[in-house]
Amino acid sequence: MKRGSILVTGGAGYIGSHTAHLLGEQGYEVTVVDNLSRGRRHNVDPQRLRVVDIADTDGLCRIFAERPFEAVIHFAAYISVGESMHVPELYFTNNVSGSLSLLTAMVRSGVRHLVFSSTAAVYGMPAAVPIKEEAPYAPVNVYGESKVMVEKLLHWFDLVHGLRSICLRYFNASGADPEGKLGEEHEPETHLIPLLFQAILTGQPVTIFGEDYATPDGTCIRDYVHVNDLAEAHILALEWLMGGGASDAFNVGNGSGYSVREVVRAVEEVTGKKVPYVVGPRREGDPPKLVADSTKLRRALQWTPRHSDLRDIVSSAWNFEKKRSVQQAS
Ligand code: UDP
Repeated sequence: MKRGSILVTGGAGYIGSHTAHLLGEQGYEVTVVDNLSRGRRHNVDPQRLRVVDIADTDGLCRIFAERPFEAVIHFAAYISVGESMHVPELYFTNNVSGSLSLLTAMVRSGVRHLVFSSTAAVYGMPAAVPIKEEAPYAPVNVYGESKVMVEKLLHWFDLVHGLRSICLRYFNASGADPEGKLGEEHEPETHLIPLLFQAILTGQPVTIFGEDYATPDGTCIRDYVHVNDLAEAHILALEWLMGGGASDAFNVGNGSGYSVREVVRAVEEVTGKKVPYVVGPRREGDPPKLVADSTKLRRALQWTPRHSDLRDIVSSAWNFEKKRSVQQAS
C-alpha cells in the first residue's frame, strides 16, 4: 500500500536512518535530507537522498515543491553534550537556526506536521525519577538547551501558523536494526554500549565515569531504549498528527533503569568476552539516574516497546558491530 510522502531530515544518522527504513517498509514515500556532515551516505537508499543543509531554506522549499509532503520528521542536529560545552555556537547555529530555517520552509511550502527529535536532556538533573513530561525545562548543557529552544519555537509556530508537532524526548537510544545493516556509528563515539564493544575489540580499556553515585552499585543509571522502538514511536507520532491530533511532547524510554556496571555485565554475557575497563572520575553534567515515565506515550499513541530487554538491545548492537568490524578489516 502506498502512503504519504514524508521528509526525514538527518536521515543518514543513527536514529534517522532506522526511522527512514521503517517508514519505507510501512509503505511511506521517503525523502531524506542530510548534509552528510555527520551522517553516513551508506545509511540511505541513494534514490531517496538529497544532500542539502537544513540552513538552506530555499533548497528545502525546492524539495517540498517536488511533491505534496504530508509531514517532516526532524532529526538533523549535533548530539554531543561535551562538544556543545566547548563550541556552543555550533549547536545554536545548527540545531536552533537550522530548525528555524526548516520551519520557515515548511510554512512557506504549506507543510504543517512535524515530529521532532528531542531529548531527556531538556530536564537536566530531574528532581523526581521516573521523569514525567510535566517536569520543568532545566537543561544543564548547551545541547539540551538547543533542544528546549526548538521545542519553544514549535510552540509558537503552532500558535501562529498552525504547524502541529510532536516532540519525542528520547532517553538512551541504543541497539541496532536486527538485520544488521544499520547501527550506531558516531565519530568520535561517546556512547556507552559501542564504547564497551570497542574496548573488547581493541583491548583498550573503557573508562567508567564515576562509581561514587548514590545508586545501588555507585554507577549512573540510564533508560536504554532500542532504536527500532524509537523509530516506531516516530511513526505513531506522525500518524497521530496526520489524523488531526494536537501538538504534544512525549518521553520515549522503557521505564527501567540499568547501571553502567549492569550494562558492562550484559555486554560480557552477550559477547562472551571480558570488557577491559578502568574506573575514572565522574563526567561533568551526568545526572545519577535518568529513567522515563513513558505512560503518556503508551496510552495516547499505544506505543509498546518490542525490545525492552537489555540483552536484546545489546545483542542487536553487537551483531551490527561484528559485521562492521569485518567490513572495516577487509
Ligand atoms: N559512560 C561511561 N563511560 C563512557 C561513556 C559513558 O561510564 O565512556 C556512562 C555515562 O556516564 C552514563 C552512561 O554511561 O552514565 C550512558 O552514557 P552515554 O554517553 O552513552 O549516554 P548519555 O546518558 O550521556 O546520554
